[in-house]
Amino acid sequence: NWEKSDVKKRNKDEIYEMEITFNEMIDSLKENFEKQEAFVSNASHELKTPIQIIKSYAQLIERQGKKRPELLDESVGAIDSEADRMQKLVEQLLLLAKHKNENKKQEINIREVVEQVIQTFQKAYPDREIQFDAKASDYKTFGNIDQIKQIPYILIENALKYSEEAILIKMRIDTDTGKIEIQFKDDGEGIAMEEQEKIFDRFYRVDRARNRETGGTGLGLAIAKEIIEIHGGEITVESEVGQGSAFTWTLLK
Ligand code: ADP
Repeated sequence: NWEKSDVKKRNKDEIYEMEITFNEMIDSLKENFEKQEAFVSNASHELKTPIQIIKSYAQLIERQGKKRPELLDESVGAIDSEADRMQKLVEQLLLLAKHKNENKKQEINIREVVEQVIQTFQKAYPDREIQFDAKASDYKTFGNIDQIKQIPYILIENALKYSEEAILIKMRIDTDTGKIEIQFKDDGEGIAMEEQEKIFDRFYRVDRARNRETGGTGLGLAIAKEIIEIHGGEITVESEVGQGSAFTWTLLK
């Protein structure tokens, strides 16, 4: 009876397809789980390092502080900057944990947001030149203001940190797509081609040793990218070693 065997075959095909879907699901769950595990292990490693440094300076003061008062300045300075580093890490980890669950969106004039962040940095870095270029007074988008604010904050901080000259922020509307485009450009150290994709990964830093001095956590760009993507936007980088970098953030209007 050909009909019966046809039904059998169809069932077999369906089971086979289900098996494939099921295996794909398991693989993706496994991948997510492994990513989560790597994240937790990276996070605890990054938090343990400053604690260890703080402890070893505290012990040094305890053992030798009375005999060698010159150690005090160095130790207190190091403890203070490691504590700052930990504070920043904790703040960024909280941001990463929180932003997926937040859903309060509003209309935002992104020009105002970027200008406010520029002002904050200009106060903190009075010697640095931050140029801003935008034709219109309004660039309206829709999003979570607390999250959106983080993006210029992260990109400007990086541009200042990894360059010495003036930095330039340009805002415009792409005439083809109608989307808002904001570019953050510096003439700093630049990023090698093979690093350009990795810098958006959590905890990735091009130069880990040097980065301890600049106080980087390797989380900034990962946070920026995640926030941009949940808002339906995009971030890309163009850079050349020794020439500088330009990060372009495209947002929906
Ligand atoms: P960090 O806290 O280390 O700055 P980010 O996630 O913001 O972490 O950046 C990851 C890495 O990308 C940095 O450690 C740095 O090596 C590189 N990077 C980011 N922005 C720039 C820039 N404007 N110029 C050169 N390198 C940059």
